[in-house]
Amino acid sequence: MSEVKKIIRRGLNGKVQQGMMRNVMKQFNEAADFLGINSNVRKILSHSNNELVVRFPVRMDNGEVEVFTGYRVQHNNSLGPYKGGLRYHKTVDLDAARALAMWMTWKTSLAGLPYGGAKGGIQIDPSAYSPAELERITRRFTYALADNIGPDHDIPAPDMNTNDQTMAWMADTYMSMRPPAERSANQHVVTGKPSASGGLEGRDRATGYGVFLTIKLLLEKKGQDLKDKRFIVQGFGNVGYWAAVFLERMGARMVAVQDASKTLYDDSGISVEELHEFCLKNKSVINGFSGGSTLKDKDFFSVECDICIPAALGNQITKENAFEIKASLIAEGANGPTEDAAEKLLISRGTQIIPDILCNSGGVIASYYEWLQNRNGELWNMEEVMEKLERKISASFEKVYDLSTSEGISLRMAAYGIALNRIENAYVQRGIFP
Ligand code: GLU
Repeated sequence: MSEVKKIIRRGLNGKVQQGMMRNVMKQFNEAADFLGINSNVRKILSHSNNELVVRFPVRMDNGEVEVFTGYRVQHNNSLGPYKGGLRYHKTVDLDAARALAMWMTWKTSLAGLPYGGAKGGIQIDPSAYSPAELERITRRFTYALADNIGPDHDIPAPDMNTNDQTMAWMADTYMSMRPPAERSANQHVVTGKPSASGGLEGRDRATGYGVFLTIKLLLEKKGQDLKDKRFIVQGFGNVGYWAAVFLERMGARMVAVQDASKTLYDDSGISVEELHEFCLKNKSVINGFSGGSTLKDKDFFSVECDICIPAALGNQITKENAFEIKASLIAEGANGPTEDAAEKLLISRGTQIIPDILCNSGGVIASYYEWLQNRNGELWNMEEVMEKLERKISASFEKVYDLSTSEGISLRMAAYGIALNRIENAYVQRGIFP
């Protein structure tokens, strides 16, 4: 295996994922310098409020006991309860959770939600466990977290390799631990549940929809539309798949797709639905799909296209591969996919980047709707959800775009500016206890 291939494999398979914390701190410091943010607020936001590491035993199907390590980092709650996903992945560790929690604080602030930021997960490769084992792991993890989460305190949600089923197990476990009269009032301890269990219609597609919508809005600013645009997607999970669905519906075509198992290419377009159907029957991986030819993994980013959507792990676009990118637009479906040095290089070449905290905010915005729905004992339909989502994401997009053009700064710096300002105001108004 060549050196480059090893690096890419390592990133995708997630044996090592370093540098996320460095990346988010670089972005934060640059924005804080630019904004001249209050120095005390800056000190506070440079650290997470609480960091929880839990170890818990689970009985495996073969009767053996395995001990797992889980994490929950609560970065900041100045604007409301901690909010953010739980991922099941080999790359989950304290540093990754810290960085991802910080991004959640910026994301919820930018979206104007009454939430702070958190993130966590378990360091496992979920494909190595049976569904029954995953259920026991999830329930035991919830039990370990239970005193530190809650519908008005910290509200987990799905993230990489977790889904509505994971959230159903979590909600059920948490609710079972409450006294009978309080059980149903705690349903919104997690969001991203299946719709029959208090989940929100449309929550599944919300993140991908936001990725699509922000791309569409940015193209409109340039007087362009999506018809015949070529896009490439890294990661064909929930985010990548739904973004591709909406883009394809508008006449764009997916010319390359990559996951940890393979890279597929077809300039005439790979059918999103056919690939999805294949993945459902094939352990969620694209390897083995017949539509499209195989490309070397390292050649993914150099595919001729208009739009590049990293929707997998962090730190995938590096200064080593940034110069190969042909797309003039990068839409960050993943959290932290672009290294700081790569971003500088891309921007100097005129490539636009829709930053993660805006681009993939549809997920947490829909989570907020689910939380409201549960709190108020309501049931919203898909139409209302998608309409509200479109309005909210568009409003954030316009604010970011306007600030970026009026100040001549990148979309990322503009997004950080809005997000940090809101948190700074909250601290300045309230002061520091005691
Ligand atoms: N995991 C998603 C994210 O990174 C959603 C978080 C949530 O809904 O709380 O934004």
